[in-house]
Amino acid sequence: MRSSQIVGRGLKIAYPISIEKEYTKLLLRFVSRLKRLSIDSLVENYDLQTSLNGVVRHDDVVDDLGQSLRVLGLTISIESKEVIQSLGGYFSKVQQFTNRSLNNSVKHLVSKVPETELATFPAAVQTIEINTLKKMWVNKNVDLIKGLSDGVLNQLGDAVYDAARMGESIQSLSKRLNADLNINKKKAKAIARDQISKLKGNLSRHNDLVHGLTTYEWSTCKDGAVRSSHRVLEGKICSWLDASIYKNHIKDKWKKRASIGGAIQQIGEDFGCRCTNISIAGGL
Ligand SMILES: [Zn+2]
Repeated sequence: MRSSQIVGRGLKIAYPISIEKEYTKLLLRFVSRLKRLSIDSLVENYDLQTSLNGVVRHDDVVDDLGQSLRVLGLTISIESKEVIQSLGGYFSKVQQFTNRSLNNSVKHLVSKVPETELATFPAAVQTIEINTLKKMWVNKNVDLIKGLSDGVLNQLGDAVYDAARMGESIQSLSKRLNADLNINKKKAKAIARDQISKLKGNLSRHNDLVHGLTTYEWSTCKDGAVRSSHRVLEGKICSWLDASIYKNHIKDKWKKRASIGGAIQQIGEDFGCRCTNISIAGGL
């Protein structure tokens, strides 16, 4: 087959950093709101304060806290709804961004392929539907957002029980929570980075396969933060159909990534991966 000789190389698919920043901001606003609501729910709960400060009836803390957490849980689920409703929009933004980048890449790639060879350009490869990808991404993010709010409720519950055991005042407890709940900022940032990079990777794979492009070149951001299992894949040719293989040149045979300590995952699948892909056609 003559197409096996064609080697067209596309452009680097850009990383949607501005969308990641926007999603980070949204999640950060959400966790600071959760923090505010949690601390307010303690300060405003006189029953809980009385039972917490009462030396004799510490068992009341359990009932009062239970009641307080139920009310807070309801408020939080209303707050979460707003965030959850905007998830579809974030998917579309990353999709538009990736499509733009891919269109430029394919245009460039096609411009390098001789006209006589264009008829042998690869046909679309069956892949997962875009709507299914969307459902999967949104559902995963709904779970992560619920995880953030459940985490806050658990942290709050544990902190109140600790305070009751140690005879800590409500003021000291609020102060402690104010610092402890900051851990959720880190979690929110990590979720935004990880989920946007996973989405970008999945959409790149989808877009390439729709164009019949089954191979890509792995490209890292080449900074000190790149993990070694990704660094060894820099410039290597990879397959969207099998994450366990690579080759150095398009005409080589596939080799096992494990033999060079390479990540056995596609671009963007590893936690917080910022590597990107360059589409390649031909030489298969
Ligand atoms: Zn990476």
